[in-house]
Amino acid sequence: MTEPTPSVTGGATAPVPLVPFVDRHAGCGGVFTATIIVKTESMVGLTATVERRVMRCSKCELERRSPDQVEGDYLATMAAIREKHGLLTHQEIRRIRESLGVTPDEFDALIGLPTGISKGWETQRHLQNAMADARVRALQDVEYAKGVAVGARVTLRLTEEERAAFRPPSFLKKKGAAAVSGEAQAEAPADATADAPAPSEAAREPGIARLDAGDMPPAHTQSSGT
Ligand SMILES: [Zn+2]
Repeated sequence: MTEPTPSVTGGATAPVPLVPFVDRHAGCGGVFTATIIVKTESMVGLTATVERRVMRCSKCELERRSPDQVEGDYLATMAAIREKHGLLTHQEIRRIRESLGVTPDEFDALIGLPTGISKGWETQRHLQNAMADARVRALQDVEYAKGVAVGARVTLRLTEEERAAFRPPSFLKKKGAAAVSGEAQAEAPADATADAPAPSEAAREPGIARLDAGDMPPAHTQSSGT
């Protein structure tokens, strides 16, 4: 008859003393404390001032951020620079691309950049610089975009109805002057039958037959009224 006897040695276990967690800097013996710092950050040659929460050592002033913080700060910096310099947001870029009915790779071709670039913008991995931003805006002008598409050998998937229904989003009117005037589109002659392309031409290149130079009203290039 063996009965396991619980060992009762020493009675109650000594409680672990509850010490407040101190985040010490092993190198110098200082203590890391949460601090708000103000920094000027730059991306693609543009700068913005951002507030940032870091853990800073009380002695040596070393700043420490977790990987999550680094990621969050990167996005916050990107947003601040976009805001300050009036760059398109990643959603706006995506909307413009989708309005033309092209894939990200095709969009790169329209902008004249290597494959993968605009995908990086849309996923917030990268920020477009001012020139690229202007090129993206310019593609809001469907007549202009059609011409670019021919040169880039990209087919815009636009129906006539989509084109007719398309209006530049309001943000494009307040930001970026040159961009695309909604007026220009409205003024564009819907029935510019002056020089219709010969039927034979249209048959040869059905997708782009309407896109030759004669079809492009010069109006929108010079009507930067405001
Ligand atoms: Zn330290």
